[in-house]
Amino acid sequence: MKASYNTEDIQRLLASSDELEIAHLFAYAKKVKNEIVGNKVYLRGLIELSNQCSKDCYYCGIRCGNASVQRYQISEKEVVDLAIKAHETGIGSLVLQAGERSDKEYVVFVEHLLQKIMQSTNAELGITLSLGEQEKDTYKRWKEAGAKRYLLRIETSNEELYKKLHPENHSYTQRLKGLEILKKLNYQVGTGVMIGLPFQTIADLADDILFFKNFDVDMIGMGPYIPHEDTPLYQYSKEIPTGEERLLLSLKMVALTRIILQNVNIAATTAMQTLDPQGREQAIQVGANVIMPNLTPAKYRENYFLYQGKPKVADDFNLSIKTLEQSLAKIGAVIAYREHGDSKHFASKNNQK
Ligand code: SAH
Ligand code: SF4
Repeated sequence: MKASYNTEDIQRLLASSDELEIAHLFAYAKKVKNEIVGNKVYLRGLIELSNQCSKDCYYCGIRCGNASVQRYQISEKEVVDLAIKAHETGIGSLVLQAGERSDKEYVVFVEHLLQKIMQSTNAELGITLSLGEQEKDTYKRWKEAGAKRYLLRIETSNEELYKKLHPENHSYTQRLKGLEILKKLNYQVGTGVMIGLPFQTIADLADDILFFKNFDVDMIGMGPYIPHEDTPLYQYSKEIPTGEERLLLSLKMVALTRIILQNVNIAATTAMQTLDPQGREQAIQVGANVIMPNLTPAKYRENYFLYQGKPKVADDFNLSIKTLEQSLAKIGAVIAYREHGDSKHFASKNNQK
C-alpha cells in the first residue's frame, strides 16, 4: 500500500470491485489503526435528548415538516439518572444528540443539564454534543458547562449537493462557519457525511475525505444514507446504491479515512448496524475505534427515527454492553472502560501550539 493517496487513488479504491484490492485496503487500514491508535474501542453512550427540530433537512425522518412524528423532550432528571447509570457501568463518555433548537430556553436547559451531569458524576464523563448549528455564545456556554467535543456533520462537502438535500434557508456556508467556531473554541471537533445519497458521486466522496483532512478535524462520524418514507428525498430511493453497496462504500470510506487521517477518532455508526447487524464490528475491523451504544429509553427511541430500521435494542444497557463486548472479543477488539478516549489528533495539535 502507498503511503500517500491522491484524489485519483481514493476514487479508484472507492469504485473498485476487485476483492483482493479491497481486502488489502481493509487489512492496511486495520494495521494503521492498531499502530496509531491501538485496538481499543471507546464508548460514547448516546442519549437522544429530543426530536424537536426547527430544520427541514430533506433526508431526515424527524424534520419539522414531518407531522406524523410524536415530539418529545427528555427531562433533566431522566438524563442525569441515565448519565449516573452510564458512569457506574464504566462508560467513559456520553453523546447528547437532538434535533436543532436554538431558543433561549433550550440553550439554558442544555447548559444546566451539562452542569448537573458533571456534578453528579464527579466530572468524570467526557461529554460530546451533537445539537446542530448554534450561535458562538451558545457553543461557548455549553463548553464552559462541561462539553468538550462537538459533532456537526457537514453531510456532504459538495455545496451544490448540499443545496439539493436542504431547503433554501439551510446554508452550507453557515454549517462550515459553525465548524470553524467550534475549532476556535477549542472543542474536539467531529464532522462526517452520509454515504450513498441521491445525486452523490464517487468523486464527491473522495472530496469528503480530503475535506476532513484539510479541515483538520479530530473525529469522524459517517455512515450510509438510509431513506425514510416521510421525507422528500425518499422519491429517489430507487436511484441510490443498494444497501449492501452503501455498506461496502461506508466501510471503504472508514478505511481510507483511517489511512489518510491516521490519528483521528472514527465512529462505527448505528446506520452501518442498521444495514447489517454486524456493521459496526465490520467498521471496527477496518479502522473505526469508537462505538456509540444507544442509552435512550425505549419509549423515546421509537420517535427518534432519523431513518427507517434503526435497531431496537433492549432497555437494559448493561446487557447490551456485555453483548457488544462479546462480539468485539470475537474480532480481537477490547472495550476501554472508564476512559474518555480523546482524539489523539486533537492532543497532537495542542502539543504543537
Ligand atoms: N440535528 C443535529 C443532530 C441530529 S441529526 C444535526 O443535524 O446535526 C444527526 C445526523 O443524522 C445528521 O447529521 C445526519 O447525517 C444523520 N441523518 C439524518 N437523516 C439520515 C438518514 N436518512 N440516513 C442516514 N443518516 C441520517
Ligand atoms: Fe433536524 Fe438534524 Fe434531522 Fe436536520 S438532520 S432535520 S437538523 S435532526
